[in-house]
Amino acid sequence: MRDEDSGEAIQCPYCGSEGHCKHLLAVIDRSFLECSGGYAFDRFHEFRKKIEGAFLKKLALGTSPAVKWHDDLLDDLWTYAQDNYSREDEYSVEIDRDTLFRLIVELLRESDGDEYPGTIDDGGAPGFSSAIALFHAASPAAVFDKAIALLAEHLEPKGKARSRKQTTRRPVASEKRQVRKAAGRKAAKRASKPSEN
Ligand SMILES: [Zn+2]
Repeated sequence: MRDEDSGEAIQCPYCGSEGHCKHLLAVIDRSFLECSGGYAFDRFHEFRKKIEGAFLKKLALGTSPAVKWHDDLLDDLWTYAQDNYSREDEYSVEIDRDTLFRLIVELLRESDGDEYPGTIDDGGAPGFSSAIALFHAASPAAVFDKAIALLAEHLEPKGKARSRKQTTRRPVASEKRQVRKAAGRKAAKRASKPSEN
């Protein structure tokens, strides 16, 4: 792959390699919507699977009203999934792939994936060059795991967060003297009572 502007081969920012190396995290084609290489290639389906799982749980419950996720792109995916959900095919979720790919690119960025900043010429015919997002990382597996964990976090619906406020009010301890006084008065009363004989 080359930089479209400079024409120079793109190098790995970690080892300087111009081809595949162990730092290659993902080659994502944003026009054809596919991951064509890198560490993420074998695990790319995990993103979709996570989203489908979370959505299906909600859809099966019939809770079609507003579920707000922690991410605008997830909200878009959710709306699309709801609009296309059918009870007859209750185990499948429709995923808008364009939005899914935008979300994955965002997740890899947020997880410290090192994205190539320039425009990439992937060797296609001029005018047909696709929008490639190229990611490297010192440890591709760690970044990928982080991205998946981040997605899982975003898939916790809003409003379900644990309430951290657990006010434990301590009772005021200053009544002991009062109690003792009252006991003394009672004893005095009893003593002053005339005896019946
Ligand atoms: Zn490298």
